[in-house]
Amino acid sequence: MEQLLSELIQLSRSLGSDATLVWAGGGNISIKDGQGGMFIKASGTELGRMSRTRGWRKVNLNQVLGLLDNLLSHKPNAGRAKQGLLDSCCDTLADVTMPSIETFFHALLGRCVVHLHPVAVLPYLCSKNGYNHLKRSLSPKFDFHRIDFRGFGVVTAGQIQRRIYKKKLKLLSKTHIFFLSNHGVIVSCQSAVQAKTIVQQIMNRCEKHLPQTILVRTAAKDKMMETAANLQSARSHCCDSLANQITVPVKSLQTPKGVMPQKKWFEGIITPEELTYLRAGILWLPNDHPNTLKKHIHSHFRKTGLWPAAFYVCRQGLFVSESKENLPLYKKVFAYYLQIRGRAMQMGGLRPLARKRLSGEGL
Ligand SMILES: [Zn+2]
Repeated sequence: MEQLLSELIQLSRSLGSDATLVWAGGGNISIKDGQGGMFIKASGTELGRMSRTRGWRKVNLNQVLGLLDNLLSHKPNAGRAKQGLLDSCCDTLADVTMPSIETFFHALLGRCVVHLHPVAVLPYLCSKNGYNHLKRSLSPKFDFHRIDFRGFGVVTAGQIQRRIYKKKLKLLSKTHIFFLSNHGVIVSCQSAVQAKTIVQQIMNRCEKHLPQTILVRTAAKDKMMETAANLQSARSHCCDSLANQITVPVKSLQTPKGVMPQKKWFEGIITPEELTYLRAGILWLPNDHPNTLKKHIHSHFRKTGLWPAAFYVCRQGLFVSESKENLPLYKKVFAYYLQIRGRAMQMGGLRPLARKRLSGEGL
């Protein structure tokens, strides 16, 4: 157990501390003990902060697989899935955090399973022609399975389970890569060392074939500060609780060929992460007039039920509103998302998530 846990912690910290691979509570990693148990990241915790005493759970594999079959044969139910996962835990941790809601597909796959949401992979998974580009970037070295996004956890595991049966996949002896549209990558292999190498190779190939990005010219510093202040006051005007978040311009924006972002780059929501963490994407604003700001902020709230946290003001640049401690990370992630959207535009245009997939609930 000691050695398995060290393998899991080392891999989780190493991949989880790289914000281009995963950030905040996203992504998950697991290792099976070969005796019916599996160590997996705990729900909502950060991969990069896993330790011996927190951030993971050990589950009974048979129990998880039985639960999955049971959930798939009825209408998926979030409450039963969560309680069932908690009941499947067989460690002695004082912590009662639930295992990741994505535990189900981990249980179906090989000894070591890594699931990430990499910046270099998302443009392929969020665009109309992305899969053709992905094939060109990865072949002949890597073959992969494509799974269409239908929600998290139980439903995704059901889709992967069908693929395993249909293709008679050998999971204990072979490496398999799955790409989940609008979501991320899953690598199923035999060890943490192997997983790390494969993730690195996929990232290098994906990065190499992406349209190059260069710095975009943003408005002058004074103008950016004035717009940030206007946004801050428009948000406070819309909702009192937003007043303690700070609005700042994001410097060093990069887009393909350094082109100025256009309105169509910001249509829809392209990943579940954009919905849950990033408050439903980046809001495009034609100008920084106070009335325009208020009108667009309200309309975003009406459409999504969320107050926007990132704004692209036409011919000026990107602005982010967040609490002081979250700002450094959010600035980085919103700038990545602008890059992802710009690169996806060069692969046949964006393929946003369908509205009916936006209900969340982790199913
Ligand atoms: Zn995920």
